[in-house]
Amino acid sequence: MKRYLIRCRDQHFSLSIANELETKLKTIGYVLDEKNPELIITIGGDGTLLHAIHTDIDKLDSVSFVGIHTGTLGFFTDYTSDEIDQFVADLAVGGHRESVPLISMHCYNGGLRHELYAINEGRIENIIKTQVMEVYINGEYLEKFRGNGICISAQIGSTAYNRSISGAIIDSQIQALQLTEISGIHHKFYRSLKSPLILHPDTKISLRSDSFDGAMLVYDHLNIDLHKTTRVDFTLGEKEVHFLRLRPVNYFSRLRNLF
Ligand code: NAD
Repeated sequence: MKRYLIRCRDQHFSLSIANELETKLKTIGYVLDEKNPELIITIGGDGTLLHAIHTDIDKLDSVSFVGIHTGTLGFFTDYTSDEIDQFVADLAVGGHRESVPLISMHCYNGGLRHELYAINEGRIENIIKTQVMEVYINGEYLEKFRGNGICISAQIGSTAYNRSISGAIIDSQIQALQLTEISGIHHKFYRSLKSPLILHPDTKISLRSDSFDGAMLVYDHLNIDLHKTTRVDFTLGEKEVHFLRLRPVNYFSRLRNLF
């Protein structure tokens, strides 16, 4: 793998690391290729890598990503900015590709079907009024939910927004879809599951409503208005993102770094 592209946080320090890296990559025969890269190197934080995956979503089959963090190690990033020499030395030796499944979201709007992808999570949220929606698992009715919304996350996103709403953290060895309520209403008239629900990776979750007026589908850092949508289906694995792993980073050391 020799053709690369750098996606960098627009900040002085990250840009200076990018310049330093470009010079060092030349010494191991790596060539900058904006149009047809095999490797995308991000410099910044977890968000920088998340944004890069969406920017290059049409290239996912042919590229791998590797992240350099300008702070401490992140969930998507395997090197820090003071390890550039180590990164270049490891790159010269080579590594293996690890594929991570994305969440696919199919939004139904009358006869139209719209397709979106997320790495961390897709969540339907309504901060204007109580969102009523029905939850179906593989076509089977589960419950009627009332509250602010529902978050569907993948293993990799279990430590992101999902964690802030008391969802479970899922070990990196386990692929799953997790359904977590966002401010669900629970009293003697209305009740929904409340507990996070962890599902087999082949599961299809459908969220349906007569009205998604005021609701947004927020997926990673992006969002769309759902006002004409009546149903969103969530599945895992239709698309994958490939990470280049040059050295082992223990999942629990990443987790420890989060606190
Ligand atoms: P960002 O890049 O500033 O990210 C927000 C925070 O989430 C950062 O601290 C980032 O390091 C962390 N993060 C992102 N992905 C993570 C992961 N898989 N595991 C652990 N931490 C992770 O903001 P953005 O560019 O808008 O990124 C969107 C992501 O940020 C969303 O996918 C969402 O999960 C996360 N987020 C979290 C909260 C929250 O926890 N309350 C709120 C908004 C966004």
